Amino acid sequence: MNNEYPFYNRVLIKEVINGLTGELTDLAVEDGVFVAELTGEPDRVIEGAGLTALPGLIDAHAHLRDPGFEYREDIVSGTRAAARGGFTAVAAMPNTIPVADSAPVIRYMIEKAGQAGYCRVLPIGAVTKGQKGEEIAEIGFMAEAGAVAFSDDGKPVSAAGIVRTAIEYASYFDRVVISHCEDLSLAAGGVINEGIVSTEMGLRGIPSIAEDIQIDRDTRIAEYSGLPVHIAHVSTANGVEIIRQAKARGVKVTAETCPHYFTLTEEAVRGFHTMAKVNPPLREESDRLAVIEGLRDGTLDMIVTDHAPHHEDEKDCEFSLANNGMIGLETCFPLVYTVLVKTGLLSLRDAILKMTEAPARLFRLPVPALAAGEPADLTLVDLGREIVYDVSESLSKARNTPFSGMALYGFPVLTMMAGHTTWEQV
Ligand SMILES: [Zn+2]
Ligand SMILES: [Zn+2]
Repeated sequence: MNNEYPFYNRVLIKEVINGLTGELTDLAVEDGVFVAELTGEPDRVIEGAGLTALPGLIDAHAHLRDPGFEYREDIVSGTRAAARGGFTAVAAMPNTIPVADSAPVIRYMIEKAGQAGYCRVLPIGAVTKGQKGEEIAEIGFMAEAGAVAFSDDGKPVSAAGIVRTAIEYASYFDRVVISHCEDLSLAAGGVINEGIVSTEMGLRGIPSIAEDIQIDRDTRIAEYSGLPVHIAHVSTANGVEIIRQAKARGVKVTAETCPHYFTLTEEAVRGFHTMAKVNPPLREESDRLAVIEGLRDGTLDMIVTDHAPHHEDEKDCEFSLANNGMIGLETCFPLVYTVLVKTGLLSLRDAILKMTEAPARLFRLPVPALAAGEPADLTLVDLGREIVYDVSESLSKARNTPFSGMALYGFPVLTMMAGHTTWEQV
């Protein structure tokens, strides 16, 4: 466990609101688990008045850049940022160097996160060797080593036959394939959404059909196989509708979106704002509203960060050359709360379940709960306090976010993993 915060064996959190039920409650923690009652006097009492307790959040999609790109982020800095964002587990995509396509890399990630002691890392193994899209990776060995899912995220798997084999093979080990949906023959060379803004800015566009076609393809492969598939970072209205219809047909498809797709549109890249350059690209207002509707009606099961740290030089350059992606671990819950919950679009309970229960089920993990006998994974958030997010204070190594300077509600003030403090606002 981390040495940054002292450990207290018996903790009493007094008069806090349970975010799932809305009830006022005391939470008792002993030996790292929630208990109905402490066996002795508490070593620490936390005054919870005005705060809301959430089960430890799980991010099902992040890039921690370790091994290989530690100048952007590493497992220590990434998990510290995750704890600050209220997460107690974060799933790490395999586009590292070496690619996480073998058991030793999976084990390295879990061990390094364990030593750092800020947040669990759930490694996602590559679908294909070297993420080259040609040959299936050692899915069985990786699953045995602790890989929670498989994905070539960062790139699509272009060959449908490989996707089919991967879905079947991963299912054999009770794991799901996470599909980054992008038809490269349509998307290649594009840097923002294809539409009015790309035309006005004179930039090559990525059409929404590049995403829709592969969402349709991969849900049909899942339907044909009778096996599950998970669709990453849905950004388009048609993509949401394809998944909605597939679910209605009984296809075992689950899907995620990210805060930037329900908060921003392609307008955010005007002025060649590289911080808003992301893949899939920010779309149109009608897409943003469709993503929100998809979250409301359950078509989109979960909200993930797609935390994608980059070095300053990889963003502070010509728009076409700038890397895709934005950091998101620290702003995810505050954006969910401010944009969706505070406005009445989503209940607090549904928002929490999309960041706890849904990712836990995807990875076949126990569902986090604020209940006696469960591991004391929680975050205390201040829903009533407005804070202007200042990325210069981020615990991530990276600074690439379009949300710095935005006033948000719901920042975590304390995060606890198995009873150990992993973040505390001082
Ligand atoms: Zn992706
Ligand atoms: Zn990603």
